[in-house]
Amino acid sequence: MAASFVHETPVGRVVFGRGTLERVPDEAAAMGRRVLVVAGGSAAAAGDRLLAALGERSAGAFGTVAQHVPEALAAQAVAAARQAAADVLCSLGGGSATGLAKAVAVELDLPIVAVPTTYAGSEATPVFGITGERKRVGVDPRALPRVVVYDPELTTGLPARVTAASGLNAIAHAVAVRAGGHGDRLAALQAENALRLLATALPAAVAEPADLGARGDLLLGAYLAAGALAAAGTGLHHRLCHLLGGRHRLVHADVHAVLLPHTIARDEALGADGRGAVAALLGADDPAEGLWRLARQVGAPASLAALGLDVGVLDDTAAEAARAARHPRAGDVAWFRTLLGDAHDGIPPVQPPSAHNPDKRRRRR
Ligand code: NAD
Repeated sequence: MAASFVHETPVGRVVFGRGTLERVPDEAAAMGRRVLVVAGGSAAAAGDRLLAALGERSAGAFGTVAQHVPEALAAQAVAAARQAAADVLCSLGGGSATGLAKAVAVELDLPIVAVPTTYAGSEATPVFGITGERKRVGVDPRALPRVVVYDPELTTGLPARVTAASGLNAIAHAVAVRAGGHGDRLAALQAENALRLLATALPAAVAEPADLGARGDLLLGAYLAAGALAAAGTGLHHRLCHLLGGRHRLVHADVHAVLLPHTIARDEALGADGRGAVAALLGADDPAEGLWRLARQVGAPASLAALGLDVGVLDDTAAEAARAARHPRAGDVAWFRTLLGDAHDGIPPVQPPSAHNPDKRRRRR
C-alpha cells in the first residue's frame, strides 16, 4: 500500500484551445465589470484585440512589465488599478505580466484572469514575488488566478531562444517534484505527466514554432508542472534560481536552463527513485545527462557567463546561498561555489564523489 501523504491543490478554472483569447471578456464578466489588462510589449497586439473585445468593460491597460516585479513598478500598477476603478485584472504575457497582476491582486484583493504566453507556470500557483533590494516571495490565495485561458495561437511568435529557456523552466518544476524527496505521490504523478509532455513538445516547438500541437502541450505541461511544484514545495534548485535572478537581475528562465543539470547532478537531497524516473522519462542513463543533452538540443544558454554574470560575484553568492539553504549542504560555502563555478563556466554537469562512486567525479558528455 502507498505511504500516506497530504496533497493540497489550488482550485481554479482552465479554458484551453485555439482562439480562446476571444473568451476572456465572458470569463472576466463573471467576476466584475471593469477589467484592467496587464500586458507588456510582446503582448501589445493581442492586448489591443482584447481591449477592443472588452469594449465598455475595459478599464484600460497597464503596459509595462518586468521580471521579478520591481517594487516601484508594482506600486505604479496598484495606483493605476485604483485610478481605473478596476474590479478584475487580466494578465496577458509571460510570468512577468502574471507576476505584476498578482502583486496588484494581493494588494487590492482583485480576481485575475491569466492568459499566459510562456511556460513559466506562475498562473498555476498562489506564489508571488516582489523585488526591492532583495526578492521577497510570498504565498497568498488572492495571487492564484481564478481563471487561466490558454490560447496556443498566442505563443507561436515566442522566439526559439525564449521557448527553449522557458520550456526548461517548466521542466525544472517537473523535475524538482518528480526527483524530490517529498512523499506526495499525486504531485509526483502530475510531474511525471508534465515531464512526458514537455520533453517531447519542447524540441518540436523549437524546430517548428507554428506547431500548435506542441505549443498546446507545452502550455499544459507548464500548468501541470507548476501546480505539482505548488503542492510539493520547492527545493535547492529553485531557491538558487531566485537568489541569482533576484540579486543579479538575470533572466529567470535562462537561469533555470543553465543551473538545472548542475543542481540535479549534485543535489543529494533528491531521491534515487525519482532521479531514475526522471532519467527514464528523458531517455537517458542519468537525469543530469538527459537534461544537459536536451538543453543543448534546443539551443538554451549553457553558462552563467553567457548570461552576463561576472565571475567576481560568485564567492558572495555562494556564501549567501549556503547561509540561506534549507538543505543538507547548508553552510558548505565551497560546495555552493563549485556548483556555481561549473554553471558559470558552462562545463557539462559533474557527479560529485559519493558513497556510490567514491573514487571518481563523473563528468557528463
Ligand atoms: P517574461 O514574462 O519576462 O517573458 C520572457 C520574454 O518573452 C520577454 O521578453 C517577453 O516580452 C517575451 N514574450 C512573452 N510572451 C511572448 C510571446 N507570446 N511572443 C513573443 N515574445 C513573448 O518571463 P517568464 O520567464 O515568462 O517569467 C519570468 C517571471 O515569472 C519571473 O519574474 C519569475 O520570478 C516569475 N515566475 C513566477 C512563478 C510563480 O509561481 N510565482 C513561477 C515562474 C516564474
